[in-house]
Amino acid sequence: MKDATNHIVNINLAEPAAEISREKSAELYTKAKTYFPGGVNSPVRAFKSVYGTPLFIQKGDGSHLWDADGNEFVDYCCSWGPLILGHNHPAVREKVIEVMQYGMSFGAPTALENELAELILSNNRFIEKIRFVSSGTEAVMSAIRLARGYTKRNKILKFEGCYHGHVDALLVKAGSGLVTFGETSSAGIPQSFADETVVVALNDKTAVAQAFEEFKDQIAAIIIEPIPANNGLLLQEPEFLQFLRDICTANGSLLIFDEVISGFRVGFEGAAGYYNIQPDIITYGKIIGGGLPVGAYGASAAIMSQISPDGAVYQAGTLSGNPVAMSAGIAQLSQLLQPGFYKQLHDKTEGFVNAVRSYIAEHNYPVKVFAIGSVFWFAFTEQEAIRRADEINPASMDNFKLMHRELLNRGIYLGPSGYEVGFVSSAHTAADLEKTQQAIFHSLSLIFDSQI
Ligand code: PLP
Repeated sequence: MKDATNHIVNINLAEPAAEISREKSAELYTKAKTYFPGGVNSPVRAFKSVYGTPLFIQKGDGSHLWDADGNEFVDYCCSWGPLILGHNHPAVREKVIEVMQYGMSFGAPTALENELAELILSNNRFIEKIRFVSSGTEAVMSAIRLARGYTKRNKILKFEGCYHGHVDALLVKAGSGLVTFGETSSAGIPQSFADETVVVALNDKTAVAQAFEEFKDQIAAIIIEPIPANNGLLLQEPEFLQFLRDICTANGSLLIFDEVISGFRVGFEGAAGYYNIQPDIITYGKIIGGGLPVGAYGASAAIMSQISPDGAVYQAGTLSGNPVAMSAGIAQLSQLLQPGFYKQLHDKTEGFVNAVRSYIAEHNYPVKVFAIGSVFWFAFTEQEAIRRADEINPASMDNFKLMHRELLNRGIYLGPSGYEVGFVSSAHTAADLEKTQQAIFHSLSLIFDSQI
C-alpha cells in the first residue's frame, strides 16, 4: 500500500486470513495415499515442509491456478519452472492440439525435432548439436556419461547445494572435509557409485583447486547449476564460474552447466549467455518442453560426435523427440524469441521484488529477497548474500512455513518448501503482483509484528 507520496505505509495487519477449505483436496490425498508412496508421484508435492494437506489442482490459466475445492491462486511455482508463459498459453495449446491430430508417437524421426533443434541452435552461441530426451534427470545422466566417455575419466566434481535430478552418482552430499567423496543421500545407491563423485562447497575456489590436485587426471567433469536454484537461490559470482571454466581447461576436464532451470529462463541462451561463459556441455529441461516432458543436452559437434550412433557413448529413448512434446517446445520457445520478451519479464520481476525489498527495509525485517531474471527466493536472514548451502539456517524455514500458509490463505501459491525458488511468468499481471505484494506484507507483519 502506498500513500500519496508513493511511500510504502505500514499496513500493520497482523491478522491472519481465514483458512481456505481443503476438504476435496484432503479426500483426494487420502485416496492418493492408497495408490502412491506418500500419496504423490514426486516427493516435494506432499507438503511435508509446510502446513496442511497438499492441494490437488484442477486447472491453470495464465498466472492462476484453481484447486479441487475451487480456491483460486496466483501461481509462482509454475510447475517448478517450465511455465514461463504461464498456464495454458493459447499458442502452446493450439500447436499441441494441431500436432496431436496426426498421432502421438512414431519412434521414427519427425520434422518437428528438426524445427525445435533449429530454433535452439540458431539462437544459441554455446552449443552446436543437441540431443532430446524426456526429462532433466535423463539429460544430466546422459551428459555425465558423455563427459566420461569423452575424457575417458571417471570422477565427477559436484557442489553441495546443487541438485541435478535423481541421477545415482549425483544423489550425494558432502562429508565433513574440504574435499570429500560423496556420501549417498538416498538409500539404494551403492557407495561405489558415490565414490566416483567428489563434493565441494559452492563459492570455494580453494576446495576446487585441492580436488584437482588430489584427483589429478581423474576428473571427467565439473557439473554445476550456474545459477543454483534448488537449495535456495545461491547466486555465484561470475569470477567463480570463470574460475571453474579455467581450471577445467587447464586439467583436460569438461565443464557441464546444468541449465535445467536457468536455460531459457534468464535469457534464451540461459546462464551461459548471461555470464558469457562457454561450458563444454549444457543440459536443459523444464522450459524447453513448454509444459510437456522434454530434456536435452548439447555441446560442440566434436563432443556430441561421441554419442551413439556416431560414437561409442550409448544413449537412447523410446519417447525422445516425441512430436507432441516437441510441438509444445516449439510454440513456447517461439514466444521467448519475440523482441523484448526477457526485458519485459525481468523488469516486471524487478519491480515486484524491489517493492517487497523496500517494505522489508522500512520495517527492518530480517528477510532478504534474492533474485535474478524472473526467479526469486525469500531468505529469512540478515546476510547480504548467501552463496553456499551451509549458509542457510535450517531454523529459518519455520518462518517460511508460516509465510506459506498465510500466502495460500490469501490466494498466493508458492512451491511448498522454503528451499524452493519462485518464478514470475509473462502471464503475471500488474494486479497479480500488487495482490501478491499485499499478501507478502501481511504475512511478514504477522510473522514479525505479532507474537504468533
Ligand atoms: N537439474 C536441475 C538443475 C533441476 O532443477 C532438475 C529438476 O528440478 C533436474 C536437473 C531434474 O529434472 P527432472 O525433474 O525433469 O528430471
